[in-house]
Amino acid sequence: MADQASILDQLEAVSRAFKAQLPERGREIERQWSAVRKQPGDLGLLEGLYRLTHNLAGAGGTFGFSQITDVAREVTEPLRITLKERKIGLSDAEQASLDARVKLLIGLCIHPALDTETNIPPAKPLFPELPTTLHSLTKLVYLLNESSEDISVLVENLQNLGARVDLFETASSLSDAILEKSPAVVLVNSPAEKASLAFDLPETVLRPPMIMLSGSDDFDSRLSAVRAGMEGFFVKPVDASAVLNLVDSLRPREEASPFRVLIVDDDQSQAEYASIVLEQAGITTRVIHDPTDVLEQLAEFNPELLLFDIYMPQCSGIELAKIVRQMDNYLSVPIIFLSVERERVRQLEALQTGADDFLTKPIRPKELVSSVLIRAWRARTLRWMMVKDSLTGLFNHAVIMERLSNSFSLAQRQNSHLSVAMIDLDHFKRINDNYGHSTGDRVLVGFSRLLRERLRESDVVGRYGGEEFLVVLPDTTLEHAELVIDEVRMAFAKTRFAANGELFSATLSAGIADFPRAESAAGLLDAADNALYKAKDRGRNRIVLAPSPLPDIKT
Ligand code: GH3
Ligand code: MG
Ligand code: MG
Repeated sequence: MADQASILDQLEAVSRAFKAQLPERGREIERQWSAVRKQPGDLGLLEGLYRLTHNLAGAGGTFGFSQITDVAREVTEPLRITLKERKIGLSDAEQASLDARVKLLIGLCIHPALDTETNIPPAKPLFPELPTTLHSLTKLVYLLNESSEDISVLVENLQNLGARVDLFETASSLSDAILEKSPAVVLVNSPAEKASLAFDLPETVLRPPMIMLSGSDDFDSRLSAVRAGMEGFFVKPVDASAVLNLVDSLRPREEASPFRVLIVDDDQSQAEYASIVLEQAGITTRVIHDPTDVLEQLAEFNPELLLFDIYMPQCSGIELAKIVRQMDNYLSVPIIFLSVERERVRQLEALQTGADDFLTKPIRPKELVSSVLIRAWRARTLRWMMVKDSLTGLFNHAVIMERLSNSFSLAQRQNSHLSVAMIDLDHFKRINDNYGHSTGDRVLVGFSRLLRERLRESDVVGRYGGEEFLVVLPDTTLEHAELVIDEVRMAFAKTRFAANGELFSATLSAGIADFPRAESAAGLLDAADNALYKAKDRGRNRIVLAPSPLPDIKT
């Protein structure tokens, strides 16, 4: 993300570019106005004049030319009414009354220095208190261990679940490391008082969360942990996935990718302004000036929020919103209008299309960013709840089936490989019976985390049901999928879970099938499922590959 200075530079550059264009915009209006006066009945010419002055009204305010904005508004309003009522054109009296104002507007454009407030700097960028940095999935864990106790099992489990673990033997070396790079969490396997020394950090340094690993579960131990400022308390032996889940819950959930916003505005400088303001808050934007390109961009860019200008020559933002709302796939994508329109009644009319908000130009950066972020967060959270399984955070059954079917079609079209693995945890009922249902849940969560850590970004993972998981691996041969899933199998078998004061582990069985060996998505799933049953039959904790349906031709 760009730093503050370069954002200011960018905004200033857009502002300068706008100012440099002003004389040309003025001359354009001059030409259009003289054409209108020659043919006052030509509504097309009038429409052109409306567009030029309307855009100026919006941009003028954005870049600190308030007089231009005011005069442009005075010009556009009678034009708008004339166009809306489909009158024959402007009467002589109307032309005469407009003439002075249009000329003033032209004058202000050609000599922008006349605009008394021209020297106002471009809208101030905000220094975002907003979430801007995105955490990678890999968690950095610092572990303070002053004892001679062997903690290698815990370290290995944390690593299996995708954490990077740095060990420290003294509180002072730990605090040095925190100053250098702040971890996601500090685990303390030492007396609480000693650890608190490590947190004598300068005020400007954000203290990472601390979790106490304690040998005993008595009141005094808990109290001293609380007094040392610990956020968590675990009694040994410790369950690595429970630790990492707690770390997750200590921080707001952050998805790994920035929000994607599609900006549609026929005016280049305005669109650019919105884009720079949003980008500096960590939002990814794409700008189009022609609303007829929207459908293509919806499919390609997959925006999570749409920011529409209202008045555009090819089609209005309102019409555009109606088109988007007619498409099932984009029903839940928030739409925000950004326009010079100030009249509440017309704003409400626009909102009736199913849009979410109406912002008025010129807009302060902070207002634009927060309005976009609030709606994008909400939409993402709702989408998350619709597609994810609430316990494991993996795709739910319906979604993983849909993804499988899409991946299958794609593989067919591109004639590429596709592997599908059906994974089932072994004797899971026993885990529930021996340690309780909530421990069973923790195992499911731990396994899900391990799956996500071990697989590629492009692999799709879902909870098929209960303790069954489906993994779709695009561009992956059967043999390669076997290697990948076998790594998962081995890592899972090594993972230790804690319950009732003891550690236990669990295993999994998997069946894998691939395209082009099966002819449909359902066939692929069946084949993987059959292979899974064989894996169970043959003693569990293993992987079985689906046989090729084509009999080997032996000569
Ligand atoms: P196998 O090795 O043959 O797969 O044996 P299994 O015990 O794993 O298989 P079975 O299908 O007999 O039992 C699955 C168990 O998983 C039964 C069910 O109670 C449990 N289960 C399903 N969903 C959940 C869940 O969300 N949480 C917990 N804790 N248990 C679950
Ligand atoms: Mg416009
Ligand atoms: Mg099972």
